[in-house]
Amino acid sequence: MIKAFLIKYSEIGLKGKNRYIFEDALVRNIRDALKKIDGEFVVSKERGRIYTYADGDFDFDETMDALGKVFGISGICPMLQVEDEGYDKLSEQVIDFVDQTYDKKDFTFKVMGRRARKNYPLNSMELAAELGGDLLQKFPELKVDVHKPEVVINVEVREHINIYSKEVPGLGGMPVGTSDKGMLLLSGGIDSPVAGWMVAKRGVKVDAVYFHAPPYTSERAKQKVVDLAKQVSKYSGPMNLYVVNFTDIQLAIYEKCPHDELTIIMRRYMMKIAEYFAAKEESQCLITGESIGQVASQTTQSLAATNEVCTLPVFRPLIAFDKQDIIDISLKIDTYETSILPYEDCCTIFVAKHPVTKPNINKIKASETKLDDVIDGLFKEAVESVELIKVGE
Ligand code: ATP
Ligand code: MG
Repeated sequence: MIKAFLIKYSEIGLKGKNRYIFEDALVRNIRDALKKIDGEFVVSKERGRIYTYADGDFDFDETMDALGKVFGISGICPMLQVEDEGYDKLSEQVIDFVDQTYDKKDFTFKVMGRRARKNYPLNSMELAAELGGDLLQKFPELKVDVHKPEVVINVEVREHINIYSKEVPGLGGMPVGTSDKGMLLLSGGIDSPVAGWMVAKRGVKVDAVYFHAPPYTSERAKQKVVDLAKQVSKYSGPMNLYVVNFTDIQLAIYEKCPHDELTIIMRRYMMKIAEYFAAKEESQCLITGESIGQVASQTTQSLAATNEVCTLPVFRPLIAFDKQDIIDISLKIDTYETSILPYEDCCTIFVAKHPVTKPNINKIKASETKLDDVIDGLFKEAVESVELIKVGE
């Protein structure tokens, strides 16, 4: 019976004159999301509202699931849409809707009538009163409660008549493609996919860079990162994943620099290379999964030392999150199971037993001069040998 969905959006309604840009992006993103599932859909914007209609056969749960992954949607109302064939027919249809939507008819309710088309013979109040009366007569166990009803049955008379009573929460956020672009440093861990997802939720189009260190890290470890990128892209849209061979840079650092500074120096080069690809993609920010105090390289001083090489703003959406809160999101977005697969990571292979937690930036810079002879060549080789994987297209 349900073949239509009213799409509610909140924040993007606040954008004044730019509102249409956000709405159009949301419509586009909904269309893209529905292209991935079976069925034909029409997505349309009508007087400040967005509707999705199924044209022919479709799977309800799959559709709700796809809509539930689109950033910018605050709620999804499955809706029965009917033609205006007179009040008596409408009354039958509303009764039918309630009958099919609720197994037990023992809740409190009210009917919200809305006459948006002024030539309809009943006004909003009359419509609500009449339909409410008919429902009570048909289902005597229902009770009217106009102040705190358990169920609000919306009946909106527009060109067609919309009947709906449930709103399934959406993810919120902003439609991807309305703000900026960001370059995510994506590792195989739990944190960075969540960080990328969070920034994408703010409407940012996210691409990613992954550093691997063959033969120290395996093809499976790389595949794991590709899988994580795919999962994030189910929400954030198509993503360019740059896979950078970081082995020679890591070996050079390992050979020439103090071992307690390895991680920091390595991370500084990761940031520099990420900025290179950010520039290529015209991204305006970097994104990492760092969180204060999680490991030695994530103390405030360590973060400052890493940050020092960056010219772009570095967004760390998880900075004040507890691990469990991050895990909760990774479970919700279904990256957790992949993240915990036990493959080696390029950072863990070259870690020192006692890494510095309060790096001195001048000392770090002095250590880095030991790389002067080789680093430009290694940097060039690393970016030139990059493998670009197109994810989620
Ligand atoms: P994650 O769970 O995201 O791997 P982590 O807690 O293991 O994070 P680190 O290994 O210190 O923390 O990495 C911090 C951040 O640096 C990551 O969240 C990610 O953004 C980035 N990063 C680390 N390793 C890599 C890598 N091999 N490729 C790309 N980015 C990386
Ligand atoms: Mg990691």
